[in-house]
Amino acid sequence: MRVAVIGGGINGICSAIKILEYLKSSGSPAEVTVISEAFSPNTTGDGSAGLWGPYLLGSTPTNRVHRWSKSMHEFLEQIWLSDDAGEAGVCLIPCIRLTTTTMDNDVFWKDIVYGCQSLTPRQLDELNKGRSKKYTSGQHFVTYTSEPMKLLPYLMERFQRNGGNLVQRKIINLEDFISKSDYDAIINCTGLGSQLCCGDGGMFPVRGQVTRVKANWLYFVLLDESDDGNYIIPNCESVVLGGTHQENDYNTKVCPNDKSFIVDGCRKIIPGLEHAQYLYDWVGLRPGRETLRLEAEKRGKQITIHNYGHGGSGVTLAWGCAEDVLELLKKDLQAFNPTKSKL
Ligand SMILES: Cc1cc2nc3c(=O)[nH]c(=O)nc-3n(C[C@H](O)[C@H](O)[C@H](O)COP(=O)(O)OP(=O)(O)OC[C@H]3O[C@@H](n4cnc5c(N)ncnc54)[C@H](O)[C@@H]3O)c2cc1C
Repeated sequence: MRVAVIGGGINGICSAIKILEYLKSSGSPAEVTVISEAFSPNTTGDGSAGLWGPYLLGSTPTNRVHRWSKSMHEFLEQIWLSDDAGEAGVCLIPCIRLTTTTMDNDVFWKDIVYGCQSLTPRQLDELNKGRSKKYTSGQHFVTYTSEPMKLLPYLMERFQRNGGNLVQRKIINLEDFISKSDYDAIINCTGLGSQLCCGDGGMFPVRGQVTRVKANWLYFVLLDESDDGNYIIPNCESVVLGGTHQENDYNTKVCPNDKSFIVDGCRKIIPGLEHAQYLYDWVGLRPGRETLRLEAEKRGKQITIHNYGHGGSGVTLAWGCAEDVLELLKKDLQAFNPTKSKL
């Protein structure tokens, strides 16, 4: 079976691994190729902190988001418990979420992370000490960061070690590509690129600007989830200060006003950041969509599976979505050839 995965971001690479490893384990002859305009370190995920957490997913059904994000959490747990955690950039980390309004204490992903608890009035008083901004509710829990700049090369190596191919190429028109190619299956993981290559008018960018600094003394994540809130997320060798989420903004240049909002806001939360060494600023466009698109389309013998529109959670959902991509492919193979299929 010949499969082309279009898009070499976190969702393309996870889908490609799932398919290749499954086909190999079932003994089927398999050729899986990831075709992408860009690979790591030039994908959207590469600039993100890779914090586990469902975010900016429009009206994507909660039960699906729960299943996908749980699967990724379990995948990260396996890596964290293995010898590979350092190489893959996977860290276990305490997190505090705060808001000046009311936080949903029964958030739907509470059972996935470790030890999620609401902050007590006493803990909030401690956190509010000496601050003009007063937080009124919050939670603490433990979860993972999986820094995509490390996780992506780690996963790409796993894919190639198993015989997967990587090809750098831009697909201008997906329809044309599908009709002219002889792949049995095409998996579309082009993120925001789906706007152009498959004409999805429902896609929109959600611009995100961040600043990276060196502050190795920081050991926890702090998310201010008020409307005007900032976030602070440590990675292995640097800390991500954020951030913005500007819908329909295509500007990929660093905006000085956003930088002031980020740096000043984070320093107000953790004053010690004033002495942190500045590394660089980064802007990325999250692939926004009213609902994440994960579905199959059949044209003759060929199947196309779309897996894009992951908003602010592409890293959080990648492994779970890749599992569903594989399930759709397996269903199609069984329907097409119920007796011969080894799947
Ligand atoms: C500032 C910021 C912080 C973030 N923080 C987090 C976080 O902490 N946790 C989290 O889970 N998520 C986070 N995200 C969101 C996350 O980065 C995205 O949801 C994720 O990267 C989407 O992955 P993807 O593989 O679907 O798309 P992308 O990473 O955008 O990859 C798409 C791929 O398709 C390729 N492509 C596009 N068009 C074509 C074409 N026509 N032909 C060939 N190839 C094409 C591109 O080159 C690229 O390789 C953050 C995003 C931003 C901007």
